Amino acid sequence: MTLAAADRARVPAEVGIGRPVVWHNPARVASADALAASPIGAADVARGHALWARCAPLLATLFPELAASDGRIDSALVALDPPLAATLVGGAQRVWVKTDHALPVTGCIKARGGVFEVLGFALDVATAAGFGRDADVTQLASPAWRARFARHAVLVGSTGNLGFSVGLVARALGFEAEVHLSRDAKAWKKDRLRALGVRVVEHVGDYTMAVAAARARAAATPGAHFVDDETSRELFVGYATAADAIAAQLDAAGVHPTPAAPLVVWLPCGVGGAPGGVTLGLALRYGDAVRCVWVEPVRSPCMLLQLAVGAATPVSVRDVGLDNVTVADGLAVAEASRFVAQTCAGLVDAVVTVDDASLLAWVRRLWHEAGLRLEPAAAAGFAACAQAVAGQRTSDRAPIPAWVAPGAVHVIWTTGGALLPEAVFEALLAA
Ligand SMILES: *Cc1c(COP(=O)(O)O)cnc(C)c1O
Repeated sequence: MTLAAADRARVPAEVGIGRPVVWHNPARVASADALAASPIGAADVARGHALWARCAPLLATLFPELAASDGRIDSALVALDPPLAATLVGGAQRVWVKTDHALPVTGCIKARGGVFEVLGFALDVATAAGFGRDADVTQLASPAWRARFARHAVLVGSTGNLGFSVGLVARALGFEAEVHLSRDAKAWKKDRLRALGVRVVEHVGDYTMAVAAARARAAATPGAHFVDDETSRELFVGYATAADAIAAQLDAAGVHPTPAAPLVVWLPCGVGGAPGGVTLGLALRYGDAVRCVWVEPVRSPCMLLQLAVGAATPVSVRDVGLDNVTVADGLAVAEASRFVAQTCAGLVDAVVTVDDASLLAWVRRLWHEAGLRLEPAAAAGFAACAQAVAGQRTSDRAPIPAWVAPGAVHVIWTTGGALLPEAVFEALLAA
């Protein structure tokens, strides 16, 4: 594929040569208008909360580490130390970190989407087999139900983290699990999946190919469920429920954003489901008092391209000469979800791209100065915030004022890393 001239003109020249950019989304509209056109709304998010609540006792049974939170999967919201915050955004603004890198069970944001979708599938299977609406959900952890679930396979394609999250919970419930991994997937993620009894299929191709292979296998497997990272509404709704969790934490911290002093949220973006769901959930909650900025590696800016050319036109980073190679394996995606691009086109403020060197520098810095154990993808929000708010390397104009409004409150979403093996983390620190 090559890009039509009119589409290419919508993409800043720096993108094609792999230079960092701050790209302001020209399709951003008032949140109310974007939400009115969205296929996913408040009722879906409410249904998501109901599913989490119903399954919480089951999760607490399956994963003892969740006993303390009564089966809720959430992470702390922590204030970044003022000196570090000041180097990111200057003195007048506050910076919070939503620490999904330490999310229980999976150590990454995929717990919100992948775990949610597998729970929903389990309930569907159980309901079809006569499990009552009001039945004790912890029964689903019994040998009898495990044997019932074992008749079904759950499949997924992934660069690693979604596969881990889906495989983990699927196996915990007794499902067969088959995870198709792209070339980016790290050896330790494969080993860990195999140890859980997951069938791991390794691909020499990229994420898009791994997803396609998993989709084809699922279509040919009776009773199988395919977790489709490119089009799944369930994943999206699972991610969206995170917005109300963080809103409660912000409320408790006395943070009440307004359009003039907004919440600016920095979200790493791979195929788009996680940042998309969170962004939609936050828009439902805060309207125009929230600004969401998505962050991609300079050689994998698939969502920037997809938003630039519009969701109707398929596009790959290869169409502009990029190779989709990045140290941020969780973000190594060449073709964005067009479902997410469509749903969130009017809600995303900007996309910022960051290079590998800055990701690694922030991994080191956040470990040494804040004790955060991040994988490179999870440091993307810091790299982007530093780059964009300082106003350096903007492709066209200065940062939009909302980001630098004196009362603005920044939230940087860290998305994975707590479960990195020690040797892997040491190697990252030394890179
Ligand atoms: C998957 C992932 C993301 C991005 O989520 P998408 O749904 O792919 O956009 C960000 N960070 C980490 C660590 C991830 O694993």
